[in-house]
Amino acid sequence: MSVQAPSAATKILLDEQEMPTRWYNILADLPFPPSPPLHPATRQPIGPADLAPLFPMELIKQEVSTDRFIDIPQPVQDIYRLWRPTPLLRARRLEQALNTTARIYYKYEGVSPAGSHKPNTAVAQAFYNKAEGTKRLSTETGAGQWGSALAFAAKVFELECMIYMVRISYEQKPYRKSMMHVWGADVVPSPSPLTAAGRQIREQDPDSPGSLGIAISEAVEDAASREDTKYSLGSVLNHVLLHQTIIGEEAMLQMERAGAMPDLVVGCVGGGSNFSGLALPFVRERLKSGRKTRFLAVEPDASPSITKGKYTYDFGDSVGMTPLVKMHTLGHTFVPASIHAGGLRYHGMAPLVSGLVDHGIIEAVAYPQKTVFEAAVQFARAEGTIPAPESAHAVRAVIDEAVRAREAGESPTILFNLSGHGLLDLGAYDAYFAGKLEDVPLSDERIQELVGAL
Ligand SMILES: *Cc1c(COP(=O)(O)O)cnc(C)c1O
Repeated sequence: MSVQAPSAATKILLDEQEMPTRWYNILADLPFPPSPPLHPATRQPIGPADLAPLFPMELIKQEVSTDRFIDIPQPVQDIYRLWRPTPLLRARRLEQALNTTARIYYKYEGVSPAGSHKPNTAVAQAFYNKAEGTKRLSTETGAGQWGSALAFAAKVFELECMIYMVRISYEQKPYRKSMMHVWGADVVPSPSPLTAAGRQIREQDPDSPGSLGIAISEAVEDAASREDTKYSLGSVLNHVLLHQTIIGEEAMLQMERAGAMPDLVVGCVGGGSNFSGLALPFVRERLKSGRKTRFLAVEPDASPSITKGKYTYDFGDSVGMTPLVKMHTLGHTFVPASIHAGGLRYHGMAPLVSGLVDHGIIEAVAYPQKTVFEAAVQFARAEGTIPAPESAHAVRAVIDEAVRAREAGESPTILFNLSGHGLLDLGAYDAYFAGKLEDVPLSDERIQELVGAL
């Protein structure tokens, strides 16, 4: 707990020139060796050559680098400054509404062009691709947050961008597709007739709604089969988490300025990138100083990879084309129910997050979606900003922790990541108000079935 009196400010801003110029790489400080990714066919550790058809060499190097800090290239910094540093806010009105003794701070990543944290890595990935001569990027997107972030980043560095968007979202969530078009990307509903993977699914099921796993297979096939194209992934991988640490590096400066270091750091987790981006710099401080900071990852109970999954080797996609990585997983064939937090519907978890969970440094909790929207509305009515359904999972956990603190007579400092705004998710809020949201928890039998098969 902090010794100084906390500052009275509501909004703690950094000047542009105070923006950190290095990403933090936790591979330098891990108290355990990372488990190597394995080749999908041979099950032997993979080398850089195996990844070269899909990623530029600089990103492959970052994936395994043990340098503690990595300089952010100047052109990436220049783009970051379009919206960074992002604000850190003290949620005073929420504290009052909860009558809590806890101090609640949040880092707000919704001010980026795409409305979430995802451009932090999209811009970096587009830059390294451009620098190594890539002409075209391929990727998949579910609800469209990642696709819109990559479309923006590709435009900035004048790359073509091909996006395979899960068909059901393509039809039901048209506005993120519109954003991708504004930024000049090509978007096709997946499964598409453009790839062998897509054609095969369409033959089996002409009405397939698609899934993230199918779209990943299409985007990977696209990149692997074209000389001018590389593949881009928006979460899970070490280099993605690395790029997101700009969030936590800024937050560290802002919390110091606020005179209040966090006792608890909270974030929602899909693949784990926004949570890690905020948390990992504070994990470094815990490992260094022995500070008893807690780290809490919040997942949906419809896709509870950490709280109910198994820590083992599994594929990143549903077809089994990607390397095997050691992570908390519900099995690569698992298709989560279509909850409104589309960005949290993933069967696995970032290996770095999984390793830190396994070593007792990160805790996790899972929530059903109705209670998550209840928290989101409470937050919006106190603080104004309407959270993305994904980010609202973090809000739910923070409110519960703040109420618990009041009941225990404690006054912890809580810091959480508001990873994006919900202005393109208002249909989900409508459904919540109309009483049409369903909670879709996984039954214990289904979990036994999924995890037993691993
Ligand atoms: C994609 C997304 C997430 C989930 O992805 P992570 O890699 O776990 O961060 C969370 N919040 C928002 C707003 C997103 O767009």
